[in-house]
Amino acid sequence: MRASDLLQPRPEGLYCPPGDFFIDPVRPVARALITHGHSDHARAGHAKVLATRQTLDIMALRYGEDFAGATQAVGFGETIDVAGVSVTFHPAGHVLGSAQIAVEKGGLRIVASGDYKRMPDATCTPFELVPCDVFITEATFALPVFRHPPPQEEIARLLKSVAQFPERTHLVGAYALGKAQRVMKLLRQAGYDRPIHIHGALARLSAYYQNEGIDLGALEPATVEAGRKGDFAGAVVIGPPSAFADRWARRFPDPVSCFASGWMRIRQRARQRGVELPLIISDHCDWDELCETITETGAGEVWVTHGREEALVRWCELQGISARPLHLVGYEDEGD
Ligand SMILES: [Zn+2]
Repeated sequence: MRASDLLQPRPEGLYCPPGDFFIDPVRPVARALITHGHSDHARAGHAKVLATRQTLDIMALRYGEDFAGATQAVGFGETIDVAGVSVTFHPAGHVLGSAQIAVEKGGLRIVASGDYKRMPDATCTPFELVPCDVFITEATFALPVFRHPPPQEEIARLLKSVAQFPERTHLVGAYALGKAQRVMKLLRQAGYDRPIHIHGALARLSAYYQNEGIDLGALEPATVEAGRKGDFAGAVVIGPPSAFADRWARRFPDPVSCFASGWMRIRQRARQRGVELPLIISDHCDWDELCETITETGAGEVWVTHGREEALVRWCELQGISARPLHLVGYEDEGD
């Protein structure tokens, strides 16, 4: 069996003809396998959805219980037969519940890794390396300029600034699913034990993480109505990046604008967004991790998707690994 007979790009997303299913389709389909809960990968309106229990829970939280006609939960390492195609979900280390999907038939194994990272993250199951014939990789940060420092160093810079400016509020922009909870967890791991104030948009997902056993410590709503402006002097407030443009952000005393994202490696991006304290914390692989992972999978062929595809395709070719861009559209990761 040729790889392109087992999985192929279609306008709806990656399609498996023998199994008649799509992986992370961007349009409603009859059967969808979903890697993780970020909105560009997990959309509402499919007839059937197969995903990890946590991804299904996250979709229900975001879209409502009726987000799909029918759902089936799959555990990590559990193999499911879909019309003669073996499908196994493996941890991707990206956000809670995130999975790579291994698709196997006739001795050929393709791994669609979704979004993934290799750096330690106490808020989700670590990435598992799955040897395969064809590896499908994301390319969000696939340029050599992207090298993510250890996240502990970035959190240490945040805490140093908090100590230095006790009268100011540190307003940290972080995406609602994954990044926000990771920043909270990193703060706790660094010994920060004061309540963390959160924007309402983070409340349900953060409560879900806590219910799943990920201890984020005391979280309190960041509503100025509930107290006086001065109550937030010296506080750490976390909110979605979109909230920074509206009035919500101007309610805090002399805020230090921070943003936790892999994009903060690019100074110009930080400046454009008016970020005073950029924190390079990413839920995606950096360039080195991408290259290492491709090598370690032993894949003879690599398909590259969503991101800077050309540089990674070129790198693979230089290593003697055949590679091609998939040109899938509709993926603009909300998580970084
Ligand atoms: Zn993602």
